[in-house]
Parts: sequence; structure tokens; C-alpha cells
Amino acid sequence: MSLPRSVSILGSTGSVGQSTIDLIKSAPDKFNVRVLTAHRNADLLIEQAKALRPEIVAIADESLYQKVKSALPDTEVLSASEGVVAAASQGVDLTVAAIVGMAGLNPVLHAIRNSKAVAIANKEPLVSAGAYLLAEAQSRGVTILPVDSEHNAIFQVFEQQNRTAIDRIILTASGGPFRTWAAEAMATATPEQAVAHPNWSMGAKISVDSASMMNKGLEVIEAHHLFQLPADKIDVVFHPQSVIHSMVEYSDGSVLAQLGAPDMRTPIAYALAWPERMATTGQKLDWQKLKQLDFSPPDLEKFPCLRMAYDALRAGPASCVALNAANEIAVAAFLNREIGFSEIAKLIHAMLDASHPSGMGSIDDIIAYDAAIKDRTRRLIG
Ligand code: NDP
Repeated sequence: MSLPRSVSILGSTGSVGQSTIDLIKSAPDKFNVRVLTAHRNADLLIEQAKALRPEIVAIADESLYQKVKSALPDTEVLSASEGVVAAASQGVDLTVAAIVGMAGLNPVLHAIRNSKAVAIANKEPLVSAGAYLLAEAQSRGVTILPVDSEHNAIFQVFEQQNRTAIDRIILTASGGPFRTWAAEAMATATPEQAVAHPNWSMGAKISVDSASMMNKGLEVIEAHHLFQLPADKIDVVFHPQSVIHSMVEYSDGSVLAQLGAPDMRTPIAYALAWPERMATTGQKLDWQKLKQLDFSPPDLEKFPCLRMAYDALRAGPASCVALNAANEIAVAAFLNREIGFSEIAKLIHAMLDASHPSGMGSIDDIIAYDAAIKDRTRRLIG
């Protein structure tokens, strides 16, 4: 895949989407943006489209169609979730999948069917439907490039030709804003406290997931699918400086790691330019200031979401769908101040505790089960 390349950005108005656009603007001769999509942020979508001149933009909230169309009369404007899927189905060199939550599942699936490569930040579809998405990509010869910094790190140091000599992968975790908090204080944490991540600037949902450590749990399942490893070969370690983004340990004792400043522009740039490299203006590591790197095991009592993610992975695909679906609803309710922080884990636990179908036969089964668990979780909150 040579440069310049045509690019679709799904979720262009979000944290990952905006960083992607910053990088593309810094190398205009290398990329040709053909598609942008958003949910409700019509103003930013219009601004981005005026700057990048894509052929197609899609806004998921239908009520905003007219506003976007009036501002962009020469651009094809699509709307509703079907419009986002149609936009994601354009044949491009690279799609950057940066929608948040399971709303990204169908767009990612269609991107895999129509792009040469897909850079995936949108972890929730991988958690719930990773086996299908990866199989679809493999059958079509589509390259999946992980954007999540941990998986991007592993991708960079994972020797496919020596995969049988890989003892384990180690996902690093900053521990989020509550790493040093007492469990009692966490129980009364506000949304403002939960989204105040010490190292990374991210969207609201992933920030709350980082505070509960569910983000790391979702990443364990994501890693299982991306790197085809069982749960007992995927470890998590606290590393509060977020300098080592993850590691692969080989049977000869060698541990390969990728390091960098905690700046999403680095993994996004890697995915945009792969297999080449592009220069970024993002943060770089300052070795003069880097005094120490700390590591400690995560406390699974204080962070039950991480333990539940391992449990779900071991229990099977339906449990992973349930874990992710319950978490999406619980986090939205917490951000909406309907429930306290500690209720997030309790709601997920209640959903995991129920009996689940033995398998998920198709994408439609996954979508239906995701909707059913979301409905049950909402009723429990109500
Ligand atoms: P944001 O909340 O900042 O952005 C989400 C994007 O998705 C926005 O463009 C939003 O549109 C769009 N969107 C939301 N709901 C819908 C919907 N129903 N239909 C279509 N589009 C929708 O999220 P982030 O950028 O933080 O995260 C995106 C994904 O990347 C998540 O899965 C996250 O876990 C993952 N990720 C993020 C990282 C980060 O640093 N932020 C790091 C690693 C992974 P609008 O703005 O109009 O609402």
C-alpha cells in the first residue's frame, strides 16, 4: 500500500478522530480524505469537511442532516446509522475506525469489506465480535492495524514468525485517576473525577473505563482476538508513567517493548503510515526528565471490572458481549449521574451472573444479544 493513500475517518469528531485529522493535515501530500463521519457534532464535522474536502460525510443524527447539507452543498451528505454504514463502505486504502462503542460494529464490518486496511481504535466491536471481524479481514486479505496504544505497541514487537516462542504479552496500565484512591472514596467519585485521567486525554467513555480498569479488561479481550492468544498468556501490570506501552515476552527470556510519550498521535501515525513511518509533531520522550519506571500488579479486589473481563473471556463469546453491553449502559448512566461509580461493576456483575447462550453463531446474534443485555441493564437501573 503506497503513499499517498485514500482514507475514511469514522468518528472524525472524537478524540482519536481529531488527532487523526491533525496528523493528516501535517502531511497533506500523503493522504486524501474521502469520508468523514460523526454522530451529533455537526459544527465540527462541517469545519473538518471544509478543510479536508471529502467526497462523503455522514452524520448519524438524522435531525442534523439539513444543517450539514446546507453548509456543504457540493458534498454528498448521508445520515442515520445506515448513512454511516454506507459511508464506511466506500472503497479506500485505509479506514480509521474511531467511533465509540458498539455503534461502530456495522461501520467497522463494512470498512473491513471495502478497505485495503483498517486501523481500529474502536475496541468495543473487537471485544464483542472480534472472532468475526478478524475472520472477515483474514478471508479478504485486509490488514488490521491496532490503534489502541497497548495493541499498537505489541503489533510493533510481535514476531509472527516466532509466535510459538511467545510466553506472554504484558499490557501496561496507568491505573487511571483512582489507582491510589481507597475503595470507599472511589464509590463516591463524580464523573468529573473519573474522566480526569492523569496521563491521557481521551473521550468520556474510555476515560471512565480507565478509571474502573474496565478499559484494561476490554483490552485483554481485544488482545486475545488481535494476537490469537489465550487469557493465561495475557498479563496486565500497573505502570503509572505510561512510557512503556506494552511488551512481548519470549521463551528465551527476551522482553520486547515499545516506548513513547503518552500521546495517541504516535500509534495513530504508525497506523496511518504503515508499513512506513511518518514524522509527527506529537510529544516525544524526554530522557533527561525520565527518572524512573514503576511497575506493580493490579489490585483485582479494588478493580473488579478487570477480573470480570478475564472471567468473561474464559467463559466465552456471549459473556464478552454481555460484559461490554452492560458496561456501555452503566458508564452512560454514571456520566448521566443516574448511578454511582461503584454501581458500574455491580451492574456488570449482575449481567455476567445470568446464564448466557453457549455461542454467538453470527453477527446478527451478537447484535441481538448486545441489545438484549443493554435493555436488561437499563431496566435494572430504572
Ligand atoms: P470520543 O467520544 O471522543 O469520540 C467518539 C466518536 O464517535 C465521535 O466522532 C462521535 O461523534 C462518534 N459517535 C458516537 N456515537 C456514535 C454513533 N451512535 N454513531 C456514529 N458515530 C458515533 O471517543 P474516543 O475518540 O475517545 O474513542 C473512540 C474509540 O477509540 C473508543 O472505542 C475508544 O475506546 C477507542 N480508543 C480511544 C483512545 C483515545 O485516546 N481517545 C485510545 C484508545 C482507544 P460526535 O462527536 O458527533 O458525538
